[in-house]
Amino acid sequence: MAHFPGMKTVRIQDRPAQVYRSDLCVIGSGAAGLSAALEAARLGQQVAIVDAAPNLGGQAVGAALGTICGLFRNGPVPRRLTHGVMDGLFEALFDRGEAALRRVRGTFILDYVPNAWMRWAEGQVAECGIVPLPGAIVRRVEQRDGIVEALLLSTRFGDARVEANRFVDASGDAVVPWLAGQELRESAKPVLGTVMAILEEVDTSLCAGYPRSLYHDLIRRFGSEFGLVRAEGPVFVLPGTRKLLLNLTHVETPMETAGLALAGIEGRRQVDALLSLFRRELPEAFREARVAVYGNAGIRQTRTIVGRSHVTVEDVATGVRPPDAIARTTWPIELHGDMTGTHWTVFGENHIHYIPFGAMLPQGLHNVVVAGRCIDAEPAALASLRVMGPCFAMGRAAATAAHLNRSGSLHQIDTAALQDAVGDNLNRETTDPWAKEAVSETGPEAEGAAEGAAGS
Ligand SMILES: Cc1cc2nc3c(=O)[nH]c(=O)nc-3n(C[C@H](O)[C@H](O)[C@H](O)COP(=O)(O)OP(=O)(O)OC[C@H]3O[C@@H](n4cnc5c(N)ncnc54)[C@H](O)[C@@H]3O)c2cc1C
Repeated sequence: MAHFPGMKTVRIQDRPAQVYRSDLCVIGSGAAGLSAALEAARLGQQVAIVDAAPNLGGQAVGAALGTICGLFRNGPVPRRLTHGVMDGLFEALFDRGEAALRRVRGTFILDYVPNAWMRWAEGQVAECGIVPLPGAIVRRVEQRDGIVEALLLSTRFGDARVEANRFVDASGDAVVPWLAGQELRESAKPVLGTVMAILEEVDTSLCAGYPRSLYHDLIRRFGSEFGLVRAEGPVFVLPGTRKLLLNLTHVETPMETAGLALAGIEGRRQVDALLSLFRRELPEAFREARVAVYGNAGIRQTRTIVGRSHVTVEDVATGVRPPDAIARTTWPIELHGDMTGTHWTVFGENHIHYIPFGAMLPQGLHNVVVAGRCIDAEPAALASLRVMGPCFAMGRAAATAAHLNRSGSLHQIDTAALQDAVGDNLNRETTDPWAKEAVSETGPEAEGAAEGAAGS
């Protein structure tokens, strides 16, 4: 009995408040936030990263996305446009055998296994000494004269406070400018989200030979019988597994708690219906299949800042390079505005378009920069820029700006110095060694002709 622990009484008044102090606080640990945090730590900054979700990884993990788009140029041998911490992610994923380059729409996308991404992200955060604050929701911003001094967080262990000199808002919803009372933008028409799913025990040797148009035709013929709403979208085998990733549902993702939860329930119903349809029509491949992972309700676009500059569809379509460019991509305009399908504007081989730093600077705040899917862009322009390749590049630019400009207003940044520091994301193009083993699509998708051949 002597080995059993005794007890003591505790009360909240005796517990010290949770206070974290860092040079840089990043809100959101998705592609943009993770990139910002890791790049900043490598530049020697003390970093804290906050995320409302219980794990790090943002939607790249929680929504089970499975591919990184917008990283490569178009062309016969697509060259990679985004570097920095992305180089390490490539190496880690390919070392684990849990990635593949896939040729679609005249470019490459990177297929990855979501768990592999999560383990890489966690390992990097720990190795770089970043303070991880998952399960913490930003609920209040303390600011004075446009300078944010601290964020107040709600956690399961009580309130917490993060103080920092600089803040990168990679929340996707521009939560810091929102709580600071700034004017923001929302699309006049909802941009739809998706519940992704990973099926397991699929005969992937058979599926590898099925063109996506086969699935799309089945949905068009029988979808109404199963209550399906979306007629096309990506379906592909996760590298090195017997698992199939589906991006074939559409739901509205309102910025309201019960509504978003109901969207998740409806999306998961659509996933079950897809599995029933495939089991019935393709029994050889799907007889044993079941759902291994239902993603969280995946949110594509919600709220964006009113920035120092605003990216228009014309900017994306013409590819004119703005004087403060910090990132580039060739990803199509992929607008999920209709339940049944997706609008695609695919660009030619020599096309490239840019993200200006001004679109990341919220008006009225001097020590905050946003990165990822809440930069200032028209909804259809954002429908290209929000994919994860450019999100990584934006995260890097945000971290670099915070490092270069440690006092005073980020609006006064030395643009040339910033562009110089992220120069390889503007000027360098590399041919990856893994390109030799790139997977090709079968069927018309290989030429990028079919609707929904890739997709994010
Ligand atoms: C279904 C779907 C499929 C997609 N497929 C692809 C694809 O295959 N390839 C691709 O490249 N892109 C894809 N995209 C686009 C891409 O995922 C997103 O645009 C990208 O993840 C945006 O990254 P982010 O870092 O800006 O935001 P997110 O990944 O959305 O991360 C934002 C984080 O901020 C946190 N957060 C928000 N508010 C708060 C708060 N108040 N307090 C604390 N934390 C907060 C959230 O919990 C979240 O983790 C897809 C998107 C969706 C929805």
